[in-house]
Amino acid sequence: MKITGLNVFQVDLPLKEGRYSWSNGNFIDVFDSTVLEIETDAGLTGYAECCPLGSAYLPSFARGVRAGIEELAPHLIGQDPLNINGINRIMDAALRGHPYAKAPVDIACWDLLGKSTGLPLYTLLGGAAQDDVALYRAISQEDPDIMARKIEGYAAEGYTKFQLKVGGDADEDIARIRATRAVLKPSDLLVADANTGWTRHEAARVVSAVADLDVYIEQPCPSYEESMSIRRRTGLPFVMDEVIDTPATLVRGIAEDAMDVINLKISKVGGLTKARLMRDICISHGIPMTIEDTWGGDITTATIAHLACSTPAEFTFSATDFNSYGTVDIAEGAPKRVNGRMAAADRPGLGITPIYDALGTPVARYS
Ligand code: MG
Repeated sequence: MKITGLNVFQVDLPLKEGRYSWSNGNFIDVFDSTVLEIETDAGLTGYAECCPLGSAYLPSFARGVRAGIEELAPHLIGQDPLNINGINRIMDAALRGHPYAKAPVDIACWDLLGKSTGLPLYTLLGGAAQDDVALYRAISQEDPDIMARKIEGYAAEGYTKFQLKVGGDADEDIARIRATRAVLKPSDLLVADANTGWTRHEAARVVSAVADLDVYIEQPCPSYEESMSIRRRTGLPFVMDEVIDTPATLVRGIAEDAMDVINLKISKVGGLTKARLMRDICISHGIPMTIEDTWGGDITTATIAHLACSTPAEFTFSATDFNSYGTVDIAEGAPKRVNGRMAAADRPGLGITPIYDALGTPVARYS
């Protein structure tokens, strides 16, 4: 099989809540997502989606996805998409870094591998480990009482895991954690995700002030070293996210006991190939994962579902159904949340079919 063409679509994803806010005053009203279609000489077509969380979250941005694909496309035409490690070596040789721009190419090749073998991706990623996965709900940063009310609403929809967006004013963040923990059941899981938003002294104050509560602390400070400083000061369970972005940083974190859980975002690490490697390293070292991505719609959600459903339940800390946050459907066959859980499709590959009316005409075609 050979790659004959790459078609790039741009789609706006508005939010049901209107706005998503996180640390340091960052917010998004409409997400800019990229859908990639890879055509082959076998008549099979592979799909993927990449949607950065704006331009200020990770070193990634929406137009960078499309510029990266433009840079990579001439190196990919004529290559065998089923030789996925080979495709990754070609991309890494042609463009240093920019894992998020390579992720949709890698994922679309996995979709093609599934379609060519007639197997769902969860089978190819290691086999079904669970029928469905428990989801978390991200709670946009607002006043503590508003966040507590939103958590009650999402708990009523079946969610049992919640991730608070903190990383703002330390005193307000302490109030946010206390107000939301108070409305949850003891069995509900609460994560306070600062998204690198605290300096060390702020993080130290927060972890000390909530030390009596059942709450996880996620990525308190910008750097690995600053976050490690907080890790050493608190007995609260600890999640690393933004700074665990390669197999190498994961191995360092495991060796130095930097975290109890990681947040594994598929596009952050460059696609399913590297995410699967990191997933398996985590399992072999007893590190559960939140399996998700920076953002996305139906196709990202389907990709998450396949990786998560091929991961044992005890290592799937949570996962994300991004397609329930937005107002626009971009693919048929994507997972739909039921009682706070989602399942991967049994159809070949990702098991999705794009809705071309939603995607519009391609913004770029390479052949
Ligand atoms: Mg996080």
